[in-house]
Formats: sequence, C-alpha cells, structure tokens
Amino acid sequence: MWCEASGAKFNIEKTKIIPIGSPNHRLTVSTTRKINPLDQSPLPDHIRIAKDGEAVRMLGAWIGNDAEDQAPWEPLIDKVKINLKKWSRIRPTIDGKCRIIQAIIGGFFLAHVQGMPSRVEAELNKIVNDFIWEDGRGPRIAKEFLHQPKEVGGINLLDISLQNKAIELMWLKTYLNFSPSCQPWAAITDLIIKASAQENSIAQVIKNPFLQCWDIPSRGPRLTRLNDDIKRMLKAAKDHNTNLAAVKVTARLHRELPAWYHIDKEMATIRSRAEKCLIEKHRTMTVTDLIKVSARIRNNDHEHTPNPFCPCRNCSIDQEKGCYNPHECAQVATAKINRISPKWNPWGPENPLDGLSLTPTRKTNNLRAKLNNDEITFNPTLTCNESLAETFRVFVDPSRISALPALRPPPTGRILSCPKITIYMDGACLNNGKKNAACGGGTWVSQGSPLNAAIRVPGLAQSNQIGEIVAVIHAVASVPISQPLEIVLDSKYVIEGLTEHLQKWEDQGWIDIKNPIFFQRAAYLL
Ligand SMILES: [Zn+2]
Ligand SMILES: [Zn+2]
Repeated sequence: MWCEASGAKFNIEKTKIIPIGSPNHRLTVSTTRKINPLDQSPLPDHIRIAKDGEAVRMLGAWIGNDAEDQAPWEPLIDKVKINLKKWSRIRPTIDGKCRIIQAIIGGFFLAHVQGMPSRVEAELNKIVNDFIWEDGRGPRIAKEFLHQPKEVGGINLLDISLQNKAIELMWLKTYLNFSPSCQPWAAITDLIIKASAQENSIAQVIKNPFLQCWDIPSRGPRLTRLNDDIKRMLKAAKDHNTNLAAVKVTARLHRELPAWYHIDKEMATIRSRAEKCLIEKHRTMTVTDLIKVSARIRNNDHEHTPNPFCPCRNCSIDQEKGCYNPHECAQVATAKINRISPKWNPWGPENPLDGLSLTPTRKTNNLRAKLNNDEITFNPTLTCNESLAETFRVFVDPSRISALPALRPPPTGRILSCPKITIYMDGACLNNGKKNAACGGGTWVSQGSPLNAAIRVPGLAQSNQIGEIVAVIHAVASVPISQPLEIVLDSKYVIEGLTEHLQKWEDQGWIDIKNPIFFQRAAYLL
C-alpha cells in the first residue's frame, strides 16, 4: 500500500531480507521462507534471506544478525595493495608516499560507517610500513615521529589508529547531540546503554551516562549487553576524558538536566520514600520537574497549607496520582535543588550584571562599529546557552574542572570613575615569511608614558601577525584589570580574531588555527 501511495517500487531482483526477532523465529523464516507461518505462499526463490552471521549491504553499511565483523574489508585491503604497488613503480619520494597513503587510506568511508576492526588496522599499518620502507625491514625513524608534522621532525604520515579514534570521537559527538537534529541511532544507543546500568538503579530515571552520574560497566556480565560499536565509542569517550566541562551554563540548561543521578554527585542517591514518590507518582525527570513540584512552598501559594492533607489544587492532583504527602514531596524537591552546587544550580548566583555577556544593544552597536571602523566592545562571554551538547569537552582533566561558575562582581563606583586609557599599537617583522624572520610589537600611550614599549618576540614563531598580537597581550597585561582600556590597532587579523572568531575557534578546540597560544593568552587577559 505504501508503495502504491508513494509511487516507490521495490527492486525485486536486488531484494534481500534480514529476518528480525528471536533466533528461533529467524531460523524458521530462513527454512520455511515465510515471514509469518500462516502466509499462503513462501517468498519467491530469487529473494535472498540472510542467515545469521551473514552481512547484507545497506546504504554503504554491512548489517546482519551476529555479523559484527563481517564488513568485507578483504577486497578493500586488496585494492589498497594493488594501488600502492602501482604507485611504487614510479619510485616516489618519502613525501610523495605520505601523500599517496593519505589519498588511498585516509578517510575510508567504511571506517566512518562501521569502524575498523583491529586486525584490519594492524594489516593496513603493515602495508603502509612496507610501502614507505620498501625492503620490509620496518621504519628507520621511531614510529611516534613519523606521524608528526614536518616542522617538528616528522614526515606527516597518516596515523591509521589515530584516525580511527577520531572517527569514534565523531560518533560520540553525534551521540551527544541533544538538539532536534539528533540522529535516531542515538536514541537506540541510549536504550542499549541503559540496559547495562546497575541492577539496583531506578530504571525510569536512567537516561544518559554523560548527563548523569551512573557508571557504564567496564567489566562483568552487564558489559556484554553493549555491542562492539558502543563499547568502542564509550572507550573513546573515556580515553579522551570527555566531560561536562563548560565554564558557565545558563539557568535554562541547568533546568534541562536530568534530576536524578544528577551530574553533581552530591545528589546522586535515591533512598527516601519522598524521593521515590517524586519519581513514581509525580513522574519528575528533569530539574524543571522538581522546580514545578517545589513551587507551592516557595511562591507563597496562599491556597497551600503545610500538611499531608492540604486540599490545594496542586496537592489534590498529586493525591489523586497516589502521593500520600505532597507537602513533604515539595519540601524534598526544594531541598534537592538547594543541594545542587552553584555551577549547576538553576537558583544559583547568576548575576546578570557580571559583565561576562554583552547586552543585545551592545551587540548591535558592535555590528555597526565593525562597518564604520569604530570602537568594538570585547565580548567576554563564556556561557553555554544553546544546548547541553555544547557543554561537553574532550581532553579535559577531570581534576581541573571547577565546581564554581565563572562570575565577575559588578563594577563598583571606584572602578567606574577610573579613566579610560587608550593604547596605540602595531606589529612589525623583518624578513616576514622567511626562515630568518624576526618580529616585535610596539605600544604607545603618550610622550613619556611608562606604558610605551617595544617588545621583541622570543621563540621560533616569528611573523608580522605574531608581532601584532603580542603588542595586544603586552598592553592588556600592563593595565590594571579594573581600568577601562581602548586598544587602537590596524591589524584586521587580530581585530577579527578577537572580536569575531574567538567563540568558533574555542568550539573547534583551536585545531587548525594559526598562532593559537597568542590568541588564547590575549583572550584570557581580556
Ligand atoms: Zn497544597
Ligand atoms: Zn509525593
């Protein structure tokens, strides 16, 4: 019927069937060739029914029952061998070989879709070795160096194992996308991971291990409930220290967090009768739900009376749901929220005047200022406000995550009366772009000012752009933190870097950004 309505047609010649259901049912389907035993006639002979262990190709992926490792890597490996053999005939240089490897093995589609089994990774590594060093005697340079960039003595050779890990981290990123654009497989993964949670945990409130403080098993029988792909993804998350490490989060995101097994471990336990009632009868899932239950005792609700038999509207609804003491539940909900640490607390000390976010008016003024080459106000915001997915970071040492939100006290009268200082600056470089480049920066305030300076940039990194940004760093570091500062410079590169790109660069972990340490230092000081 669906085909008739949509105009779609099955390609009968190419149809293959993967039976789903219990192993017994699957066996019956493949032996009787009937999906339902009551079907009149069996499936036509030319339709193949995949047996257990047999993989079928679908949209580039290979799937089937018990067919974890069945992706046809062998033909791919053969293809790589043939290609590399062809290339070796022209006797490429080491650099040429690296490029050939990158083109032939870098970005394998199948690795993105299904992940590369370790035996395939090992075989490809061997093939790469033989191609680079020809005589099969193995590398002459330590392996760690081969994959390094040329500037630090490596040959920039593709690191297959690292590429596979990066792919796993991209899976994780997709899994942790909680926005409407999330993938359906993430929801299925949630269910599979949930099935592996501790037997004694309360199933209704188990949602996502990255947003809650329950642990995924790393050994034992519950681990077998996870499939290989999920295990790989979770291992990548652990190996690379994936953490909720945002510096500051808006109250809206605080409220979206799961209320139970809250990431703030302080309130991880669920023991009391009221806590269980809040889950089972009030059906609270998120912090928002707890806030709603607590409202009757916080908002001076004149209808509500502090006793188990309160006849107010909210309490009556709860009593109908089977709650014996709505007042107590509201008290416990309030206490639970109060116990959340300030960084994650929706009632935390969020100070709208902390100066860490620009007002909408200032943002509009900045847009106009950019067009007119006028004064742009630096936007120091560190707040995640789009989605909880924004709050995750990899490569974060958990011991360095602060439980306190970033706050800045509102400016006091004394600071406001501090006069603005204007610093003019520029950068310069001798032999810019050459090996013997030497750069520096200069700052000028007024005749004889102690803030006038000429700075010679130390270190190997030397360019005109570095001279410019070092002048900014020097100027900001020289002025007291409370003093209004105006920086006058003509470097489009630095102005746009600090006023337009900072957030984006931060989001991409500064990967592929030129001169990251200088910009990071300037941003930190600003
Ligand atoms: Zn009441
Ligand atoms: Zn209750």
